[in-house]
Amino acid sequence: MRLLKTLLLGSALFVANSALANDCELTIDSNDNMRFDTKEMSVPASCSEVTVKLTHSGNLAKNVMGHNWVLSEASDMQSVVQQGMSAGLDNDYVPSGSDAVIAATEVIGGGESTSVTFSTDGMSADGNYKFYCTFPGHSAIMQGEFKITN
Ligand code: ZN
Repeated sequence: MRLLKTLLLGSALFVANSALANDCELTIDSNDNMRFDTKEMSVPASCSEVTVKLTHSGNLAKNVMGHNWVLSEASDMQSVVQQGMSAGLDNDYVPSGSDAVIAATEVIGGGESTSVTFSTDGMSADGNYKFYCTFPGHSAIMQGEFKITN
């Protein structure tokens, strides 16, 4: 009887842990119409690390309709987009060594997927964060709010 109880407790803990981990993993899709499939993403403040998976459900190549997923404070978005353009496709349109970039994936083309895992150190529920694609010309449409929820 004692063994059974331990086993039950063990599986209950396992379920609780997986649910928590899933809350810290987000997926977002992009397509050939220069769109993300969501305008808002959020994770609970309990996530010390967040993983964002980016998929591209279109067919176009990354040099034509490439997409990435970049996260920064909203106030840094314009400068990151501009510096990203200068950095070019070889650098995934992300300025290297920029403190403003909280997280960034590589640029992918149709049928591809990628992901980035980042720490939420320094981020808070009071923060004003934006996610966007830094492929030239995309960020005006391909952007949304990223929220930390309490
Ligand atoms: Zn894009």
